[in-house]
Amino acid sequence: MEFKRMTVNQWVKERKDAKETARRARLGAAAATSTTAASTKAPTVAKPANSKTPANVATIPKAPPPPIVTGLPPDQEVVLLQTHFITPADKLSNHGYVPTIPTDADIKKARDAEEVSKGWEQCERCTRRFQVFPGRREKDGALTSGDTCQYHPGRLNHVTQVFGCCSASASDGSPGCETASSHVFKANDAKRLASLWNFVKTPANPDPNVPVDRAVCFDCEMAYTVYGVEVVRLTATSWPSGDLLLDILVRPHGTVIDFNSRFSGVFPEDFAMSIPYTPEAAEAAKKNKPAAVPEKEEGKPASRPPMLMASSPKEARDLFHKLIRPETVLIGHALENDLKAMRMVHARISDTALLYPHPKGLPIRYSLRVLAKEHLDRVVQAGGPLAGHDSAEDARVAGDLVRLKIKNKWDDLRRRQNWKLVDGVMVRDV
Ligand SMILES: [Zn+2]
Ligand SMILES: [Zn+2]
Repeated sequence: MEFKRMTVNQWVKERKDAKETARRARLGAAAATSTTAASTKAPTVAKPANSKTPANVATIPKAPPPPIVTGLPPDQEVVLLQTHFITPADKLSNHGYVPTIPTDADIKKARDAEEVSKGWEQCERCTRRFQVFPGRREKDGALTSGDTCQYHPGRLNHVTQVFGCCSASASDGSPGCETASSHVFKANDAKRLASLWNFVKTPANPDPNVPVDRAVCFDCEMAYTVYGVEVVRLTATSWPSGDLLLDILVRPHGTVIDFNSRFSGVFPEDFAMSIPYTPEAAEAAKKNKPAAVPEKEEGKPASRPPMLMASSPKEARDLFHKLIRPETVLIGHALENDLKAMRMVHARISDTALLYPHPKGLPIRYSLRVLAKEHLDRVVQAGGPLAGHDSAEDARVAGDLVRLKIKNKWDDLRRRQNWKLVDGVMVRDV
């Protein structure tokens, strides 16, 4: 089949049917999840397709690991962070970070190239070529060309040449063990990203209430839209305290093709039930009282309260900028992706993917899930498809991995260089 020809009405009906099927599947999954929780048998753990943890992995409940004790007061932890665990600004671009803002000439070049390409992209999952129609194809309302996308969500092990998802061998030429309704793509080039909305440097923050002696952990969840990969959820926590600073859904510029819920933990229902972000709604949410609860959609699990949603990525970025300064250290795992999604140029970065390098070197990197298990003995929270995964937890895990580095550094400074804490300040005893 080449293209699916149908009227917009047919398309709407098909969407409705697909939603109903998905709803039934979810209800089925809900029943299955509760059975799994009751049983003592360990559930199967799927391999991740990317550095994030799949949202639908069931985990075995266990006692939380003890908190990391560094022996330092919070402000001194920040001092060690600033002096020892920041990636030098000139090295950031080697790691995929965007160091400078693309110019108007760059953007024009990217736009011209896009016009020539007429929407042809390569699928990030199955590598097939397909066409994307941001304004929907006139004849049938389609967002993308081609039929379904068949692919392996698991990583290919480069040694065994076997896919992590289904153990199929790469040499078998199997088309994939999973089928999605559409192909998807990811634009990576800074100039092209800037052609949709441009990067900015973190502006100065006149708010005296934003502490200078704190760092901020942050994590974005992405979905596939007609413009590639876009941010749909932004979470920021204070470091080292772990307090939640911001957790909002974000309405992307383009129509969503695939929420990538398995990894993002964001579902179409979350969008449908969201409350528009306003300072009042945020204030009410802080007190755990939603400003207004929209009518419960049939079939939507009640476990997650509706979230606030920024009306655009720019609004989300403005809210995030209110929490930080240009000097604020941002902590996270492989933050170049998050910063690109937010079109942010920020020089003070502590990236756990770089702090805990893989012995084989780049481009091989540990996933956050592997680092959390190995160094913190923590299974990154993922409570099944209904609960979705908790990006605040991801942000805190990255923060704790940095705190572990701080703890070891302080132990080392005390033992080998006679440093000690005097009146809450680190001093070297000479
Ligand atoms: Zn597979
Ligand atoms: Zn595909």
